[in-house]
Amino acid sequence: MTSSLQRQYLQLIGVDVWLDRNTPPLADEAAPLAKAPTGDQLPSRDVEVWRTLRKQVSVCTQCDLHRGRKQTVFGTGDQQADWMVIGEAPGAEEDRQGEPFVGRAGQLLNAMLLAIGLERQQVFIANILKCRPPNNRDPRPEEVAFCEAYLKKQIHLIQPKIILTVGRIAAQNLLKVETAIGRMRGQRYRYPGSDIPVVVTYHPAYLLRSPKEKRKSWQDLQLAMRVYREM
Ligand code: SF4
Repeated sequence: MTSSLQRQYLQLIGVDVWLDRNTPPLADEAAPLAKAPTGDQLPSRDVEVWRTLRKQVSVCTQCDLHRGRKQTVFGTGDQQADWMVIGEAPGAEEDRQGEPFVGRAGQLLNAMLLAIGLERQQVFIANILKCRPPNNRDPRPEEVAFCEAYLKKQIHLIQPKIILTVGRIAAQNLLKVETAIGRMRGQRYRYPGSDIPVVVTYHPAYLLRSPKEKRKSWQDLQLAMRVYREM
């Protein structure tokens, strides 16, 4: 991706003014942010494991959230991705479409990814919960506990080189901490029990409500790029 194209995406996510004043280097074109598509198919055993997992999630009734869902939201993207993006839970539109991060927040997430040279389909996007909590309330601990086996399995299958969590709920639940998101930003974490690095940033829905924080999210994305390249 050319720097000018990246700048267009940065303008889209609202960091152009900041960028002009303090321009750190944009993504280095010589060092791509994701492996080139190999055209390799998943091994047939993995295809079967993914199919079984998807089926398990689609009929899951382990917590009460199954009662109010239109459908489960399994996750989407490259099952061999270097990057995983993990958010909180489906909202109304995700529940309707069966896909995470659609609507305005999804568009902003797509633009954030494009700003660092990643197409949405190059990453795998999932949530802590696969079913929509009513009225967009926070996930309850027991819901997270029931649902986390599915996300763990997805991470285990994908073996990403980096995980980007978006929003407080995702960061705290994935990393098993209660630290405020403002204090988690700028740190490098490890996904518990693994060497997979985790970088924390704000949820795009929050950025839509608080556009001033977009500059910070760009700093977070830059940190994620550096961490990825060091792997
Ligand atoms: S949120 Fe997770 S654990 Fe609860 S019913 Fe949905 S898939 Fe099952």
